[in-house]
Amino acid sequence: MRNLFPFLALFILYLGTAKLGFLFDAVGGFASLIWPPSGIAFAFLLIFGPRFGLSVFLAAFVANYTSGASFIAATGIGIGNMLEPMIGCYLFRHFTKDRVSFSRVSDVLAFVLIAVFSAAISATVGTMSLQLSGSIEDFSKAWPAWWMGDLNSILILVPFILIWRTRFDFPNLAAKKIEALVLTFLIILITTMVFTQSGFIYWRPYWCHLLLIWATLRFNQHAATLFMMIITFIAVWATTMGLGPFQLGSLSQSLLYLQLFLFSLALTALFFGAINKERELALQARSDFVSIASHELKTPLTVLDIQMQIIKQTNLAPEAKVALANMDFHLQRLNKLVASLLDISQLESGKIPIVKGELNLTELIQSVASHFGEYLKRERCTLSLDLEDAVLVHGNQYRLEQVITNLLMNAIKYGAGRPLRMGLKRTDYKILMSVEDQGMGIGAEDLERIFERFERVNTAKNTQGLGLGLYIAKEIILAHDGRIWAESEIGKGSVFWVELPA
Ligand code: ADP
Repeated sequence: MRNLFPFLALFILYLGTAKLGFLFDAVGGFASLIWPPSGIAFAFLLIFGPRFGLSVFLAAFVANYTSGASFIAATGIGIGNMLEPMIGCYLFRHFTKDRVSFSRVSDVLAFVLIAVFSAAISATVGTMSLQLSGSIEDFSKAWPAWWMGDLNSILILVPFILIWRTRFDFPNLAAKKIEALVLTFLIILITTMVFTQSGFIYWRPYWCHLLLIWATLRFNQHAATLFMMIITFIAVWATTMGLGPFQLGSLSQSLLYLQLFLFSLALTALFFGAINKERELALQARSDFVSIASHELKTPLTVLDIQMQIIKQTNLAPEAKVALANMDFHLQRLNKLVASLLDISQLESGKIPIVKGELNLTELIQSVASHFGEYLKRERCTLSLDLEDAVLVHGNQYRLEQVITNLLMNAIKYGAGRPLRMGLKRTDYKILMSVEDQGMGIGAEDLERIFERFERVNTAKNTQGLGLGLYIAKEIILAHDGRIWAESEIGKGSVFWVELPA
C-alpha cells in the first residue's frame, strides 16, 4: 500500500509524457525524438528503487498498445523500456558506490556512458519488437531516433531532478542576484532569437554553450541543469513550430539534428558542472582542515600562554628571562596566526553568519581609535579624525571593529613617524571610510594582491606581519555588500578606502 502511490504516480507520469512524445512526428509512429518518460523513469528508479520497474513496463505497454502497436510489439517495447532505467540505475549506483551524484568528473563520465548504453537497450528491444511484428519497415531510421530521444531525455532530466532535490544555496550578494537576473534574461532572449530568427547570421546556436558555461561556473549545477531545461524547452518548441537553424526536411529529421546539438550542450553543462563542483569540494576540504586545525591548536596555546605568565612571575636568571621573552614573542605570534586562521575559516565557510544591526560607525571609529593612544605615541604618529556625525550603518560591530583595527594598525606599522588621518562621510547611496598614512606606500602592481591571503609586499619585510589582515578585512567588507581598495604611491603613503551601502 505504501508503494501504491509512487507506483501510480510513475505510471501516470510515464503514460502522459509518452503520449506527448508520440505527437512529435515519431519515426514509424513510435520512435519519438522527444521522449521525457525515459529521464523521468530513470530518475524515479534512482530515487525510489528498482522495484518500480513494473510500473514503467505497464505504462509503456499501455502507451504503445493504445497507440496502435500489436500486443506482442507493445509487450516487447514495455520490456525494453523497463530494462533501460533498471539496468541504467543499477550500473550508475554500482559505479558511484551508491552515492548517486554528479559531483565528480568520473561520476559524470560513468553516467553518460551508462545513459548511452541503457538508451541503446531500449532502442534495440523496442525497434526490433516493432520490426518483428511488421509495424515498421525501416529499422535504420527508427533506431537512431529512439536512441537519441531516450539518451537526451536521460542526460537532461535525470541531473535536473536529482540536483534540484539537493539544497541550493543561492549566494546572498546583491551583485550575484543582479548577475543571475541578467543571465536568465540573456539565456531566454538569446535562445529564443537563435531558434526563431534563422535569417540573421549572428544568431547562432553556439552562443548557448557560452551562456551555459557562464551559468555553470558562476551558479553551479543547479543553474546548469535548470538553464539546460529552459534551452531545451525553447529549442524543441521553436523547432516543432518549423523555426530555427535545424530545419532540415521532416520534423523528425530536424529534431534529430536538434538533439545532436542538445547532446553536446548537455555534456558541456554536466562536465563543467562536475569540474566546478570538484574544485568547490577541494576548497571546502581545505577550509575544513584549516578550521579544525586552528580550533585544535587554540586550546594548547591558551594553556601555554597561562603557564608562561606564571613562570614570568617567578625569579629567573637573566638568560632565562631573555629566553622567556623570546618564547613569549613567538607564542603571541602563533596566537595571532591561529586567531586569524580561525577568522578566515569562519568568514569563508559562512557557517557563522554575520549578524547585522544598526550601528553608529562614527562612534565605533572613535572608540577603536581611542584604544590606539599608546601605540601611536610609541610609533611617533598623530592621528586626526575627520568624521561626519552619527553615520549609521547596517553591519556587525565586532567585524567592522576588526576592519578598522586592521587598517589603523597597518597605517601605524607602515607609516610610523608620520601623521595619519581617518575620514568618514556619507552620500545618498553609500558610506565612505578612509585610512590615510604618509608612509612607505605600495607599488601599483601590488595594490590588488595585498588583499589576498598571505600576500605581503617586499617593502614590508622589515615589519612583523602575517599577510592576513587585509584579506580578513576584505572578506568582512564583502559580507557587508561593500568594497575595499587602496590608492598609493611608493614613498608617498597610502589611502585605504572602504565603501558600504548606506
Ligand atoms: P600584514 O600587515 O600582516 O603583513 P596585511 O594583510 O594587513 O598583512 O597587509 C598585507 C601587505 O600589504 C603588508 O604586508 C604590506 O606589504 C602591505 N600594506 C598594508 N597596509 C599598508 C600601508 N598602509 N602602507 C604600505 N603597505 C601596506
